[in-house]
Amino acid sequence: MSIPVGQSAGHAGPAAATIGGDLTPELIDTDWWTDQMVAAAGIPMQDVPLVTVGGGIGSFILVDLLRIAGLEPSKIRVLTGADYPWQQYEYLTRCSQIPITERIRSDSTAIPDNFWGFPSLAMREFWKDKKLTPVWNVATEPILSDYWTPRLGAIFDGLRREAARISWDDMVLKGQVRMVRRRAGGGYFVVLTPPTGVAATRRVVIRAQFVHLGIGYPGVKFLDDLQQYRTTYEDTFRVVNAYEPHEHVYDELKARPGTVVVRGSGIVASRVLQRLIDDRDRHGAQTTILHIFRTYVKGSHGDSVFSRRKGANGWAHQGFNYPKSAWGGQHWDQCRKLEGEARAAFYKRIGGTNTPRRKSWLEQLARGRKEGWYQQFVGTVQQVFPGQDGTVVTRLTATGNGTVADVPASFIIDCTGLEADLREHRVMADLLDHGGAGRNPIGRLDVDREFGVRGAESAPGKLYATGSMTLGGYFCGVDTFLGLQLAALDIVDDLAGQGLCRRIGPVRSISQWWRRMRWRAP
Ligand SMILES: Cc1cc2nc3c(=O)[nH]c(=O)nc-3n(C[C@H](O)[C@H](O)[C@H](O)COP(=O)(O)OP(=O)(O)OC[C@H]3O[C@@H](n4cnc5c(N)ncnc54)[C@H](O)[C@@H]3O)c2cc1C
Repeated sequence: MSIPVGQSAGHAGPAAATIGGDLTPELIDTDWWTDQMVAAAGIPMQDVPLVTVGGGIGSFILVDLLRIAGLEPSKIRVLTGADYPWQQYEYLTRCSQIPITERIRSDSTAIPDNFWGFPSLAMREFWKDKKLTPVWNVATEPILSDYWTPRLGAIFDGLRREAARISWDDMVLKGQVRMVRRRAGGGYFVVLTPPTGVAATRRVVIRAQFVHLGIGYPGVKFLDDLQQYRTTYEDTFRVVNAYEPHEHVYDELKARPGTVVVRGSGIVASRVLQRLIDDRDRHGAQTTILHIFRTYVKGSHGDSVFSRRKGANGWAHQGFNYPKSAWGGQHWDQCRKLEGEARAAFYKRIGGTNTPRRKSWLEQLARGRKEGWYQQFVGTVQQVFPGQDGTVVTRLTATGNGTVADVPASFIIDCTGLEADLREHRVMADLLDHGGAGRNPIGRLDVDREFGVRGAESAPGKLYATGSMTLGGYFCGVDTFLGLQLAALDIVDDLAGQGLCRRIGPVRSISQWWRRMRWRAP
């Protein structure tokens, strides 16, 4: 398919923008659209070779690499509601108790604004603070020290600078994407709803040969019993999810003594516990923390001597979401070769809930256990219901002896999940129903080894997807900075093979790195 660059199709342009066409029943019900169908609906249309939907960190990383591969801003459109690429990530980290001064979970070379990973984030901190600690840490980890991880603020600063260098804002088209449909003759139509009051039209269609989906998490998922409580009693005050704003919980607990139930044992539970304990230590909060585990890890575990994971006091400990070899070693290699059930079993074996082993967290919890204000429960929750004096009660069947206990608390913080079903995202639901896409062995979006969405091909165009919705594919690190970079590299190679951009070989890589070091545009 040949689509002229930066040129609008016949009926688009300022005059057409006032026509304000909308989706018609024919368009909604048809899987493959023709140019005539869109024209007949009167929706303004723009042409661009490549579109990325989402405009978050995954989109940013792909666009950054495409710019490095020689693609001009005029050939890329970023369809997003976000004001800047790290907006959603910033929101989720803020909710889940990671202030910008705190350290995140990725390593020194996972730099979303620098795909070479050099100079590393530890080097950056060394230059900034003039202290050798980060350099010593990365030189000795993980034997003599825990993994070094960057501060959240360093990630934002880097993204801000790189966004300016690659002219990110020039590529952004604001709005919510409603659907992506295949085009008869090749490529895709992406339907965008512009922000109200900004455009004179209700919809805009972008006709693109290549589309990338980087929409992040389909939504927040509550545990069933907590969701039922919230719906039945319309109480979103006492039962909260760690990924939604819940500052009022900490404010209340600082203002008067209270009890809080924490559910989950991943990194977000660690963060929330840290916040609760910091508030005890720094602001004199008299909070009692009741921590409910469904699965209690007593010690090191794993199915062979070569795949052991540390664990203690309920927690499974691991530096990163997966063993490091998942991003480029033996686990990366194994995963690429597995299909169906075998791949699902692989994910189960190397994944699972875990959290880094940080000395400060271990010290806080040990102190809480000793002084009695941090207590652990292991069991299955039967029901959650309102108690007396405005409390919320968790009815729990203890693992082992089957004793039933009622645990009243002022608040419950659900730290268990961010992943909702694919269908809860409108674009995903439409793609499953009309776009030919299917699910992978763990139920998310099925992509091939180059991150092309299987079943949604529309040659000579291609639909790609990266990020959490593709977890379960041939690369399990896909929802991380480094994983998004490796996935983007595969996509850019694939696009170079189709003639969209240049291949990033050694000469281009070195010359572009040098340009970046001097802060020149790619
Ligand atoms: C709390 C938290 C901490 C994390 N910490 C780390 C870490 O330390 N290291 C690491 O490597 N990874 C980390 N991750 C994982 C991952 O790297 C980040 O979540 C990253 O932001 C994922 O990028 P993304 O582009 O897939 O999603 P996002 O950055 O969330 O971007 C998705 C974007 O798509 C937009 N969008 C959705 N639907 C539409 C639509 N219909 N139309 C237009 N736009 C739409 C959203 O508004 C959002 O702006 C963390 C994740 C979370 C939640």
